[in-house]
Amino acid sequence: MFKSTFFKLLLTFLVVIIIIMGLMFGMQEYFFSREYLLSRVQEIQYEAIHLANQMSEKDTLGDTSTSLDTIELISNKYDALIWVLDKEGNIIQTQKDKSDFVGKSLPAKQMNDFLYPILEGKIVTTTEFYQTQNGLPVITVGVPIFQNGVIAGAVVINTFETVLASFSRQMVSRLWFMPLIVFGVAMIFVLIASRRLTRPVKAFKRLANEAGKGNFAYRVPIKSEDTELGQIGESLNQMMEKLSKMDKLRSDFVQNASHELKAPITVISGYSQALMDSSLTEDKRQEYLDIIQGETRRMSELIGGMMTLSQIETGNQKLNREHFNINDLISRMILSFELEIEKKQLEVEVHYESDVLEVYADQAKIEQVVVNLLQNALKYTREKDSIIVTTKQVKAKAYVEIKDTGIGIEKKEIGSIFDRFYTVDKAKTPGKGGSGIGLSLVKKILQLHGSQINVESQPGAYSRFWFYLDM
Ligand code: ADP
Repeated sequence: MFKSTFFKLLLTFLVVIIIIMGLMFGMQEYFFSREYLLSRVQEIQYEAIHLANQMSEKDTLGDTSTSLDTIELISNKYDALIWVLDKEGNIIQTQKDKSDFVGKSLPAKQMNDFLYPILEGKIVTTTEFYQTQNGLPVITVGVPIFQNGVIAGAVVINTFETVLASFSRQMVSRLWFMPLIVFGVAMIFVLIASRRLTRPVKAFKRLANEAGKGNFAYRVPIKSEDTELGQIGESLNQMMEKLSKMDKLRSDFVQNASHELKAPITVISGYSQALMDSSLTEDKRQEYLDIIQGETRRMSELIGGMMTLSQIETGNQKLNREHFNINDLISRMILSFELEIEKKQLEVEVHYESDVLEVYADQAKIEQVVVNLLQNALKYTREKDSIIVTTKQVKAKAYVEIKDTGIGIEKKEIGSIFDRFYTVDKAKTPGKGGSGIGLSLVKKILQLHGSQINVESQPGAYSRFWFYLDM
């Protein structure tokens, strides 16, 4: 589980979220708390200035008639310790409950560092002035008091930093909820997103496993075709479709090929048995030997075709091009099928534009192409049908066409007949089934020549195959 992509994704998302939130929260606390404290210190400064202004209206620092209420108010509001100092650093006034400070004076250091700058007209804010026993930082604000146009003393307000910042601390502690909520919501989204990402990946893995086991029926469920994962799924499904088709063709081939090979073996075995009969006439003996020879040739051709196809597919077949007369080659091949042609009483027409049509190609391989096309024309024609062969020069190419007025090919089959091992349903063409490599071999050989095989057909009427060769 901890090694799964899902878990790794989740962990990555989690770490990223925690870092982002930590940064956000840290920055928020730092800036917010600092700003807040600064604004509170400013507030204290205003209070001190306000008190000093009130006292400016009096003649002496000891006149408490207006200042006392203000001092009480400020000390309560900020939990502050407030002193009114004269120019010598003596405490003249405080809030009521701290009146024992009255009469005491500042030590020399505080006089120098703190009081003298105030007496020069400055507003001083410091954390150095007042040290408490428990070490809590105290913020001290001092402002000058003007009486009759001259500085007569100073107002000093001491407050605990913790008291000033308490509100911001409360705020921050409450704000912890916000990131927690954001975190929770983000987690839910992360979970959904991770599952969405990993579910198809798991399906891909299953597809690969199933394909490995030879089961090509499994398909990846596709929710959205727009995403990259959806497109990969689509491609994988297409691949499975092809694999499953190939698998079926392969198993059909094994069946067909073994049938194709078994038939001649049975015939050969039967006739060679018959040859052992010493009472056979010479004519019969010759007839049986011809049959055996014919069947042996069929087997040899089939095996040869399979080997050539596999060599071309593995890229081990090179072309041995030469110049030769294609018309001669065709005539020779037609002649070699004379027996079958006669047996079916077929009409063979040959239309050569000129006696010689020279091509530049691999003669042995083109012979294979012509043989396969003629064999098919023979196989898929009825008695007394015709086979018409045409050759001519078209632009700078040699054009070769083999047409038959046979059973034709259904439209839906046309796209597949060049597939390896593909044979049209035997039920529809009884007794005509082959191994299904003839046309795929034709296609591959012509591809090797940089050409292609073309077909046109009308079921029940005709089939026309044609191709071009270099001259
Ligand atoms: P096969 O060994 O089955 O003939 P091919 O690859 O030569 O294999 O041909 C594939 C299929 O194409 C055949 O099974 C047949 O149905 C169809 N076909 C090929 N040539 C013709 C033709 N001239 N007329 C009708 N059908 C044809």
